[in-house]
Amino acid sequence: ERSAVSTDRLTNEQLFERAQRVIPGGVNSPVRAFRAVGGTPRFITRAAGAFMWDAEDKRYIDYIGSWGPMILGHGHPAVLEAVQRAVTEGLSFGAPTEREIQLAETIVDLVPGIEQVRLVSSGTEAAMSAIRLARGATGRSKLIKFEGCYHGHADALLVKAGSGLATFGHPTSAGVPPEVVQHTLVLEYNNIEQLEAAFAQHGAALACVMIEPIAGNMNFVRAAMPFMKRLRELCTQHGALLVFDEVMTGFRVALGGAQSVYAAAIPGFAPDISVFGKVIGGGMPLAAFGTSKAIMQHLAPLGAVYQAGTLSGNPVATACGLATLTEIAKPGFFAALAARTRSLVDGLQQAARAADVPLAVDSEGGMFGFFFAAELPQHYNAVMATDKARFNRFFHAMLDRGVYLAPALYEAGFVSAAHTADDIAATIAAAREAFAA
Ligand code: PMP
Repeated sequence: ERSAVSTDRLTNEQLFERAQRVIPGGVNSPVRAFRAVGGTPRFITRAAGAFMWDAEDKRYIDYIGSWGPMILGHGHPAVLEAVQRAVTEGLSFGAPTEREIQLAETIVDLVPGIEQVRLVSSGTEAAMSAIRLARGATGRSKLIKFEGCYHGHADALLVKAGSGLATFGHPTSAGVPPEVVQHTLVLEYNNIEQLEAAFAQHGAALACVMIEPIAGNMNFVRAAMPFMKRLRELCTQHGALLVFDEVMTGFRVALGGAQSVYAAAIPGFAPDISVFGKVIGGGMPLAAFGTSKAIMQHLAPLGAVYQAGTLSGNPVATACGLATLTEIAKPGFFAALAARTRSLVDGLQQAARAADVPLAVDSEGGMFGFFFAAELPQHYNAVMATDKARFNRFFHAMLDRGVYLAPALYEAGFVSAAHTADDIAATIAAAREAFAA
């Protein structure tokens, strides 16, 4: 009887059918369902280094890396050892531990301007809490977000732009009452004019502006330097807090996150609040938000802004995160990762050019994007105007050839330290065939 429910010999297709009987859409997070690209999701059985294997034992070079966390590749020995030791000591205590202090100290050391952090279990939780903190600290209600940026699925953030300039948004999900998003203003990314109009109209009521500094939820779009500089000026001028959602970019595009990239170009630049996830947990459920001590004093138990979590600062997750951060903080780590990632996108672009396929590429640290377009898009509508049919064909051609790219044109890609020059070469060779086809 047991073997009747064993997954041992089921194909991806059979597993997907079985999954759909007991899990809505067969998945626990929508993008995994391959809706955007069509076809059957691969059910993963194991992973090691740069590779994952599916239920049919087909091997893939993995450029998703669990959507960002696996920056060291799968099963890094130092991480496995730390996790295994932590597991034997206890899975969860619901009481403070020294490891939480160590992780907080590590983040504070690596990101200038952050004095305190609170640990939570998902990026959604971290972004939602950061907004509550910004509202509580400023005593204001309104917030700005940008079309195409994703900050998790808290109600107030599931919003798309309204019809007019600087008007409040509409829910993007059923189940979110319009009143819940009535304080959320949605603007076009990289549009300084709209930003200025919104501040002119609502500046005194704005608690915060939340932004993905390099937006990985519309593939890969950088906030332009003049845009970011103006955003910082306007926030300061109007007393709104600038919240950097670095769930994806933090400890991924550089050791100091995207904010270090902007600080290198804009003198004195820093966000007010930072949100982290993914890499800081190394593959375990862990996220954080951090800022100055003065702002953090508003959080419970010290202040009036409530925030809590049964599994927050979980001992196994913090062990995994600490071991991961220790590895990526080693000298030369990011230079090597950035060079490897750049060699991938450069190779993809050359292969595309040889086949007369327009392909625009970009990367920073271990994060990359590519577009079937002549130029890099600067905002969401431009991303969605790139060649979707071509992306979908390319995705499947690569998957057939054992290369696992993100299954939607609006998602970023990730390279890990386990990807070798040979893996990159094999990927580019596969792409050459795919472009030719
Ligand atoms: N912010 C950003 C920038 C993200 O990319 C994500 C997840 N992809 C989130 C927040 C939400 O994180 P989580 O899925 O851990 O809730």
